[in-house]
Amino acid sequence: MNTIIEPFRIKVVEPIRMTTPQEREQLLRDAGFNVFLLKADDVLIDLLTDSGTGAMSSEQWAGIMRGDESYAGARSFYHFQDRVRSLTGFDHVLPTHQGRASERILFELVGGKGKVVPNNAHFDTTRANVEHSGAEAVDLPIPEARDPRNRHPFKGNMNVGDLERLIQRVGADRIPLVMVTVTNNSGGGQPVSLANLREVRAVCEKYKLPFFLDACRFAENAFFIKRREPGQQDRSVPQIVRDMFALADGATISAKKDGLVNIGGLLLLRDEALFQQACSLLILTEGFVTYGGLAGRDLEAMAQGFEEVVHEDYLTYRIRSVEYLGEKLVAMGVPIIEPPGGHAVYMDAAALCPQIPPHEFPGQAVVCALYRMGGIRAVEIGSVMFGAHDKPGEPPPKRLELVRLAIPRRVYTQSHIDYVVEAIAALHSSRRELRGLRIIQEPPMLRHFTARFEEV
Ligand SMILES: *Cc1c(COP(=O)(O)O)cnc(C)c1O
Repeated sequence: MNTIIEPFRIKVVEPIRMTTPQEREQLLRDAGFNVFLLKADDVLIDLLTDSGTGAMSSEQWAGIMRGDESYAGARSFYHFQDRVRSLTGFDHVLPTHQGRASERILFELVGGKGKVVPNNAHFDTTRANVEHSGAEAVDLPIPEARDPRNRHPFKGNMNVGDLERLIQRVGADRIPLVMVTVTNNSGGGQPVSLANLREVRAVCEKYKLPFFLDACRFAENAFFIKRREPGQQDRSVPQIVRDMFALADGATISAKKDGLVNIGGLLLLRDEALFQQACSLLILTEGFVTYGGLAGRDLEAMAQGFEEVVHEDYLTYRIRSVEYLGEKLVAMGVPIIEPPGGHAVYMDAAALCPQIPPHEFPGQAVVCALYRMGGIRAVEIGSVMFGAHDKPGEPPPKRLELVRLAIPRRVYTQSHIDYVVEAIAALHSSRRELRGLRIIQEPPMLRHFTARFEEV
């Protein structure tokens, strides 16, 4: 059999609402051409993010009922801890309410003015937490990552030569840890190879630096390793996951991705002293160490999610469904970041609409067109998100103008994706008519969430 099917059947359904093109035109105008300001009920297929938007299994929902809500020492915590220990090999497991809470605790402890934190590519909350501590966040991607058409199998890799040069330039004493994000979300959901993780680890050992993973999509990354890395084909995904974590001294994780839950996070540590400090901060701002800002039922759902996410039939379906969308777009000539990543397809809006200059936001124009065409919500990752501090009158720095189609886990079927493909085909044939936008209202920070636009 060649057809890769959704490896589940549907037990509960949630209706989604079809809107007319006229309704969508009005809704888009009312939202100031910013899809973050739409009501989710007015969206037919929501590809805004894969974070916290997945569907839980019947076993996870059963876990919700079994949750032990004791303040301290809840059974659900021990279940969660056992599961995470056997998955990752880490002894010290702290629950947090989501990934950025783990990041905030970690960088409050190791960050600070004068420090420098290297990463293959910081995710935006990770960068914000590093910088909030006073430290500098430095991205060290490999050169292939900058070319959307380059089909490098591990485009998320860290540039190990640049890492060593950075350490020599600023001095190891200013670097509290080296972080690698798996898969590399900011770089297009691209995987990092085991070989690259080992090389980064070797550099860390040479300079006596701790090595941390931002491991939100560890299972998707492990599956890419199994598929693409020489010598890994016959190994199980849990074995590869163990190998990845065995190289690290710690990890921050958002369970809203590969935890298959709607809320939750983790901080994993090896160092005893750092663990004790993290416990104190956790108690101060999140909650006691056996619940970390979550309910007992959330811990049960996470424990079960971390079990299901490494199943190979799930991962085969997961990676294939994203790849399927990517292949269809490439076949119709839509420029995307190739190869498609683990959780999303990124369209190259600048290449799709060369008539729209960067300061008129080609990515945002494509996002709006996609909503108009089919009630589909995507997100701009380009000059709206990153251009707030571009100097007026000067040419903006060269950046990719992307539109991300993030695929929620276990939520949409192949026919939903076929519908998305059809809407993009319609968009593609009318791409020359798309118009740029200008900002008419923007907040001082993180403007992409709340800015309002009008059409040029
Ligand atoms: C989502 C994400 C985070 C932050 O996690 P939240 O749960 O959203 O706080 C950090 N790093 C990466 C790579 C992510 O994708």
